[in-house]
Amino acid sequence: MAETLTGQGHTFNPTILREYDIRGVVGKTLGAADARAIGRGFARILREGGGRRVAVAYDGRLSSPELESALVCGLAESGVEVVRVGLGPTPMLYFAAFTLDVDGGIMITGSHNPADYNGFKMVIQKKSFFGPDIQRLGKIAAAGDFVAGAGAVTVHSVFDVYVARLLQDYDGARPLKVAWDAGNGATGDALVSLTAGLPGEHILLNQTIDGTFPAHHPDPTEPKNLVQLQAAVAAHRCDLGIAFDGDGDRIGVVDGQGRILWGDQLMVLLAEDVIKTRPGATIIADVKASQVLFDEIARMGGTPLMWRTGHSLIKTKMAETGAPLAGEMSGHIFFGDRYYGYDDALYAAVRVLGILARGTTSLAALRDRLPEVVNTPELRFPCSDTRKFAVVDEVRDRLRKDGADMSDIDGVRVRTRDGWWLLRASNTQDVLVARAEAGDQAGLGRLKALIVAQLAASGMTPPSF
Ligand SMILES: [Zn+2]
Repeated sequence: MAETLTGQGHTFNPTILREYDIRGVVGKTLGAADARAIGRGFARILREGGGRRVAVAYDGRLSSPELESALVCGLAESGVEVVRVGLGPTPMLYFAAFTLDVDGGIMITGSHNPADYNGFKMVIQKKSFFGPDIQRLGKIAAAGDFVAGAGAVTVHSVFDVYVARLLQDYDGARPLKVAWDAGNGATGDALVSLTAGLPGEHILLNQTIDGTFPAHHPDPTEPKNLVQLQAAVAAHRCDLGIAFDGDGDRIGVVDGQGRILWGDQLMVLLAEDVIKTRPGATIIADVKASQVLFDEIARMGGTPLMWRTGHSLIKTKMAETGAPLAGEMSGHIFFGDRYYGYDDALYAAVRVLGILARGTTSLAALRDRLPEVVNTPELRFPCSDTRKFAVVDEVRDRLRKDGADMSDIDGVRVRTRDGWWLLRASNTQDVLVARAEAGDQAGLGRLKALIVAQLAASGMTPPSF
């Protein structure tokens, strides 16, 4: 390794070093100097592991080009060969990291956050760079423990190869009519190219990449952000509608009647298709997912595996178990089957269309076939960073003493005769997250009361459900 430079430390605002990524408000907690230090810190860790080359891409936010330049500079002055992939969605950067001769990848993106946010998602040796890795990067930067070297910078677009790779796995038969909403996010150009190569009729909304997000917030987990898509599905009598978050690693879907299919409902459709060709396959879903999904996976001959929420944690578990499919309530869908195992919403869309276009039933009919349950959405309520994990620990300890039927892989997920309820601490925000699901409204009421009682026992003002 080249000489180590010390004494030129850079201290990050501590709020930006998060569990799964680095993210902050540009001009307030995050700027070009941080981007350069991230490049230098990442370079050190990469080179320690024998790595040398890094792919870099950026989303359509107004601040992204400046952060990209600074990051590239930091990497290069630490002896890294940087491959600039350019503007595109996060999964396009993952594609570059998995298919080019590189040892890591960094995506500059604020994902689905407001326009003034931006951040960095990182991959090293095809694995998520998160948790302790990010903390270590922060320490290296603070100490100025950088390595020096003369790197190189090349430009290498993977855009065409990426879109061709997406299209390669389209296996539909009948043409479909589809409305799409890119939310002015980084998927816009790829979506235009992708739909030009797909059969059927495609109505595109907000496909112009625009970092001010003029139409609506690019977050398909919020129903209000799907209103425009629902209207387009109705107006054009589409088979379905598909939306992406700002950087294209999360998908939102509405059926031909305009009803939203949440990530766990969509997963039933996808799991069925994967299990057909891979009987017994392990299919992973996060702790927020409906029991219906886990039961359906088992009924269809798959092996359901409940895992912790968080895209980095899910990807890591997938790699460990060899699971061909995983998904989160939030709309991160990961295909190992015929693909690379990272969360790519455009790829998930191609697979959804293939399934529907091969079959004879509609998405609405598939949705209606799911067992009837009543559940809450994800309920989030504020709890201080210092208290949130303690509250969950207290709840778990009380439940354990009472002999509750529960899983504690991520918070507590408790089964009762009525159904199940979940309480967990968010890894990324100062909130507690709850969800409950029962066979009927009365049962759901009883589950909510259990959550409220547990919170009250830990001195939390129970939220109004
Ligand atoms: Zn995202």
